[in-house]
Amino acid sequence: MQNALHDIDEVGDDENRQQKHRDQRQEGRALEVHARSIIPTMRHSINRRRFMGSLAAASARWIEPAYSAPLPSRGELILRNAYVMTMDPTLGDIPGGDVHIRNGEIAAVGKAITAPAATVLDGQRMIVLPGLVETHWHMWNTLLRSFDGEKPDQGYFPTAAAYGQVMTPEDMYHGVRLAAAEALNCGMTTVHDYCHNLRGRPHAEADLRAIKEAGLRARWSYGWPQGLPDTQACNLDDLRSLQSGWANFSNGGLISLGFAWRGMFRNTALPPEVYRSEFETARGLGLPISLHVGSRDDAKGQIAALAKENLLGKDVQAIHALSASPAEIQMLAKAGSQVSVSPGTELRIGYGFTKISEFLEAGVPLGVSVDSTVLSGDANLFGILKLARNIENARAHDEFKMPARRMLQLGTIDGARSLGIDDRVGSLKPGKRADVIMIATNQLNMGVFTDPAQMLIESTQPENVDTVIVDGRILKRGGNLTALDRDQVVREAAASFMAVRKRANLR
Ligand SMILES: [Zn+2]
Repeated sequence: MQNALHDIDEVGDDENRQQKHRDQRQEGRALEVHARSIIPTMRHSINRRRFMGSLAAASARWIEPAYSAPLPSRGELILRNAYVMTMDPTLGDIPGGDVHIRNGEIAAVGKAITAPAATVLDGQRMIVLPGLVETHWHMWNTLLRSFDGEKPDQGYFPTAAAYGQVMTPEDMYHGVRLAAAEALNCGMTTVHDYCHNLRGRPHAEADLRAIKEAGLRARWSYGWPQGLPDTQACNLDDLRSLQSGWANFSNGGLISLGFAWRGMFRNTALPPEVYRSEFETARGLGLPISLHVGSRDDAKGQIAALAKENLLGKDVQAIHALSASPAEIQMLAKAGSQVSVSPGTELRIGYGFTKISEFLEAGVPLGVSVDSTVLSGDANLFGILKLARNIENARAHDEFKMPARRMLQLGTIDGARSLGIDDRVGSLKPGKRADVIMIATNQLNMGVFTDPAQMLIESTQPENVDTVIVDGRILKRGGNLTALDRDQVVREAAASFMAVRKRANLR
């Protein structure tokens, strides 16, 4: 809590560099920073024509690599003497346990581990567990947080469509960066950014840049622009081109590419030449495909329709699926499809009560998600897991229907399995990547220390999330974000929202 960054030399050095970059950002807009960053290079070897050419390219794209601050480096760390919940069936919980991290990987988990070269992170009165894995989130529209109004024309869908259509790449960047900062603040280490407002390549690059700068692990799913007619396919050439140059966007393998598919049904039934060309292109490229389907009662039969056309499979994630009948749940299970549920938005928008145990009993890989803060307000995934658990108990009229530990599994290892990354993250086990969080239990809402699983699900607020480590990088420490400037993130997002609102000129 008290040691913040000062006891971590490598991170401290990076912090100085980051502060310098943050100062640069505050001095001017991206283009100006870009100009400054390439002027020294020009002095050495680049002639004026090339310099002007670079500026023109920056204008077209607006964002340049020189704009981003470096992420903290991966050091050698030992989380010492904590209540360690590994979420691994063999290792179990380790009271007074240690987690040793080296080069972004978990080197050892156990008691009294010897690691003389490692920086010590004191784990007393802390619960250590794998970082939370989020499985479907339209991060761009965090710029419109809680902007769902009280009249039908101000509901979620018209709001996202009307305001999404006037958003620039810079607005996308600010929305996603705000969401990414909140994700880290709440203890998420992996997100699935389902980006369904791609109005051109600059929008995609702006979105990706925000995730990269935050240091999150992510699946980033390429979608359509808000307002695209159901009769028109999304930009599949751009998807192919993005995939072929993916190394430029993957942040060293932390960000993977997926496809955000509209499915067969949207506002209307999509024509087969649209939904099939989109699906077949994505499947042909070997991309995981995600779609909203069977969201509410009047969407019954949609999953069966997909199954009939062979549009389910291990590469398909179905989102919401509240209307799934027992037969449709079996179709999902048989096909190997995954499901993502988002009780924070499903309840709010009136889809009904989230289905969970039905999918688990059928063996469908399941993850929990934020979906959209336009509806959910905040993105506290611990709170969303609590909501999910309470819905299960309420539906069953049973205090013991859904154990807290089962919910923690859903938020960690099960979420990772549903995204196909459980070989790398989701539990604390030697050889896995170091995505780890530390929850401080010495605050009023967490005292006294009773049952750690119940405490985590029922009590955790973002301010209890003391430390967040992604791939060995410390991105939150002592309650503070290390790679992002919290005030700047909020201030610039607010300015962006004001500009969007003015441009839309609706309310
Ligand atoms: Zn959604």
